[in-house]
Amino acid sequence: MKIHIYLALFLLSASLHVSAQQLYVPRNVAKAFQNGTRSMDGKPGPNYWQNKATYNIRVSAAPPNRTVSGNEDITYTNNSPDTLKDIVFRLELNSHAAEAPREGLITSDYLTSGVHIDEYSENGKVKPWPERKGRTWLRIPLDQPLASHASIKFSFKWHYDVSVESGREGAIDGTTFFLAYFYPRVAVYDDTSGWDTFAFMEGHEFYNDFNDYTYEVTVPKDYIVWGTGDLLNAETAIKPEFAERLKKSFTSDDVIHVATADELAAKTVTAQTDSVTWKWKAENVSDVAVALSDHFIWDAGSVIVDKKTNRRASVQAAYDAKSVDFQKMVEYGKHSLDWTSNNFPGTPYPFQKTTIVRGFADMEYPMMVNDSSQQDPNFTRFIVEHEILHSWFPFHMGINEQRYGFMDEGWTTAFEYLIGRNDLGEKTASNLFKAFRVQHWIKSPGADADIPIITPGDAMSGAGFDDNEYGKAAVAYLALKDLLGDAEFKRCLHEFIGRWNGKHTLPWDMFNSFNSASGKDLNWFFNNWYFSNGYIDLAVENVTSTGSGSEVTIRNVGGMAAPVDFVITYDDGTTETLHQTPAIWQQNQKQAKVNIPAKKKIKSLVLDGGIWMDANDADNKWESK
Ligand SMILES: [Zn+2]
Repeated sequence: MKIHIYLALFLLSASLHVSAQQLYVPRNVAKAFQNGTRSMDGKPGPNYWQNKATYNIRVSAAPPNRTVSGNEDITYTNNSPDTLKDIVFRLELNSHAAEAPREGLITSDYLTSGVHIDEYSENGKVKPWPERKGRTWLRIPLDQPLASHASIKFSFKWHYDVSVESGREGAIDGTTFFLAYFYPRVAVYDDTSGWDTFAFMEGHEFYNDFNDYTYEVTVPKDYIVWGTGDLLNAETAIKPEFAERLKKSFTSDDVIHVATADELAAKTVTAQTDSVTWKWKAENVSDVAVALSDHFIWDAGSVIVDKKTNRRASVQAAYDAKSVDFQKMVEYGKHSLDWTSNNFPGTPYPFQKTTIVRGFADMEYPMMVNDSSQQDPNFTRFIVEHEILHSWFPFHMGINEQRYGFMDEGWTTAFEYLIGRNDLGEKTASNLFKAFRVQHWIKSPGADADIPIITPGDAMSGAGFDDNEYGKAAVAYLALKDLLGDAEFKRCLHEFIGRWNGKHTLPWDMFNSFNSASGKDLNWFFNNWYFSNGYIDLAVENVTSTGSGSEVTIRNVGGMAAPVDFVITYDDGTTETLHQTPAIWQQNQKQAKVNIPAKKKIKSLVLDGGIWMDANDADNKWESK
């Protein structure tokens, strides 16, 4: 027995030495491993830390006046081992200023004068604010350095105009506003990069700490406000009849019309004081967003998202009468939460609610979605499923979306395909996914399309950036699922989610988590898909008879370790489809030899990659001479 154990251990260590591939690790991440903030087994390290703030925000808006004003108190705690001599604040909405750098084109209706800081104070002392037009972050020296484990208080008074043209936020119509990224915030200070000083230029997304928020939104009477978190004062903001309907929706399986278009037009819904203050609370979330309107219809329902505890989540929709596709939105939202909680990613929806607001953005926020209206109800459902899936990546998992968007959009796009298969059937969902998510990358012959997925998003732009974030990253995750099998893939994914939710995870934590959770060294696969310039192009080289069957030799022209189907026609006219997982590329990523056990002679063989589209189909077919 002992000899066998020693032999096994020797062989194991020998195979690790021979086959183990190292992943490229940037120097700042290598230092985090050395410092013990992250562990090589994929877990947060014994010295892991992240900073945290509490925000107390008061906002006022009175459409059609587009000026939104607010004041806020921030208590920021420095959990890092470092003494901070200055603080970085983010003012994302300065991206609307004429002076701001932007990645895309805008119209003049998008422009505003940016965010105006009317007063800034540090620990109660008012200090001058250095207005820098168009800057989305500012470094402010502190009067007293902030020691490790100490806290500091900041206060702001501010105002800005919502833009006429609505993007991720802005005026949806004359009396409907969507407020996002609207309050001055402390930037992320983390263990690998220090302060986040990436300019927000509209294209790339965000990076936030997990904070606690209480906020109030004061609006004229007859305006409804929706927002991230729990509404604390429904009983005083709206009349009892309507508050009762909302309350009922939290336990009901039905879609409840909390406020109809007629009731809103009759101005009978809210308290009838001149202005009404709506109060909210949201804890341990990476942001809050708000919508307000005097005519948007309000529907609500709820669905059990955790079958073990019977926990329900609220699903609400806010929309104008013209957007008829939104009449089904609560149903779509409930279906999304149900399917995603129980299938992929397959952990209970991590929040208590979601509200889907009819806007223009097709954009996610914690517990809020801003979606466009569509003619095709299937497309309406498709978009909301995608945005709700973001509740896991990045909002549950603390992804740096600016830098590693492939962990945000990539995961979401992979799951979007899986729920699409459930909704639309395999064929329609696959065709949609290929056309919408994969084709652009695979048919782009330029070097930009083949930049490795691991390339920091803030160092990329254009099509290469888009492909790496969405379709290419999604087929990489789906190839990993194909390699591991559904049950093992989910087990490893849940291990990763369990380790890193509520924390700032990096790609190396994810790769290392899959390695340690699976007990396999998957670095060959990660190197291939995430760290290489490959693309998908397989070719049949030869099919030979082995006596007991056939041997198929395929060449990997593009280099990606993609799954593939062998569509075989035998001499007797019968056909068979044999699926090959990426495992065929583990030993040799240039060429694979696959044995076909059937005794029948192969007449023809076609390689069909399915959603792993092949860049060149011309060399995918073999026929016996
Ligand atoms: Zn997305």
